[in-house]
Amino acid sequence: MISPPIQKVIAIEEHFWIPQLRETYTGLDLETAPAFVSRLEDYGSVRIREMDEAGIDIQVLSHAAPAGQKLAVDESIRLSRKANDVLSDIISVNPARFAGFAALPTPDPNAAADELERTVSKYGFKGAMLHGVSAGDRFLDEKQFWVIFERAEALDVPIYLHPATPPTAIVETYFKDYPEMSRAGWGFTMDTATQVYRLIMSGVFDRYPKLKFIIGHLGESIPFSLWRSDRVLSRFGKVKHRFRDYFCNNFYITTSSNFSQAGLICSVMEIGVDRILFAVDWPFMSNTDGRSFIENALISSDDKQKILGLNAQRLLRM
Ligand code: MN
Repeated sequence: MISPPIQKVIAIEEHFWIPQLRETYTGLDLETAPAFVSRLEDYGSVRIREMDEAGIDIQVLSHAAPAGQKLAVDESIRLSRKANDVLSDIISVNPARFAGFAALPTPDPNAAADELERTVSKYGFKGAMLHGVSAGDRFLDEKQFWVIFERAEALDVPIYLHPATPPTAIVETYFKDYPEMSRAGWGFTMDTATQVYRLIMSGVFDRYPKLKFIIGHLGESIPFSLWRSDRVLSRFGKVKHRFRDYFCNNFYITTSSNFSQAGLICSVMEIGVDRILFAVDWPFMSNTDGRSFIENALISSDDKQKILGLNAQRLLRM
């Protein structure tokens, strides 16, 4: 049963989209998923009803992947800005129920840093969400993107690194025979985890030690791999600290779309309960399933309160 909330319940990987960006997405079969489409384009009524059914007080909203990251520079800047303006309007209508992460036009990293600053300072956004590789299959650890991280550290807001379809060459090599593996079943996890490893090995956290990332899906399998990666990768002396230290000091993880009790216990043991935040991944997962996953977890009520809202309140200053 759902216990009475002491703190506000905050879910932080909850999506919407704008039709102008959705129309640029290739390879989407929208006909087969009318429930997702209508919910992503619902900015209030169904969304709030399903939040209420699960006792979720606040959704921190983000545009569904890959936002404007695959577009040419001018279109990426224009449509990312449009998505953020719409998000600001959604929040203004229901400021007690919604907050937001910005979409950033990463094909122009300087414009992306400026858009982060604009949306945080003008709209009160809580940070930004980035989705996988950018146009041209560029990885985020490339130095051209560090201006975004420098700005995030200066603004003291986190970057939520969300999956998107892996680079074309990876999809071709690993998934050509099994295309269904390239997305949420495995490819998203593999791609996001690899980007996290690349960021850590790049030294970006030595340059910007207060930089904070959030990753979903109970840490994209990294908590389970952390002991071995730490042992092997910490031998390579290009960065100041051990691999584990970067993961446990610069990253937060969420429960989005991975309602595994065994995975949660592993995550609590590896990264600690103070760095685990509640997320559902609505509308792709059900709010009530996400909420009962935490209610049924074999952790203390105090730890449940941290995951359901206290950690988000602190990290996102809500
Ligand atoms: Mn998601």
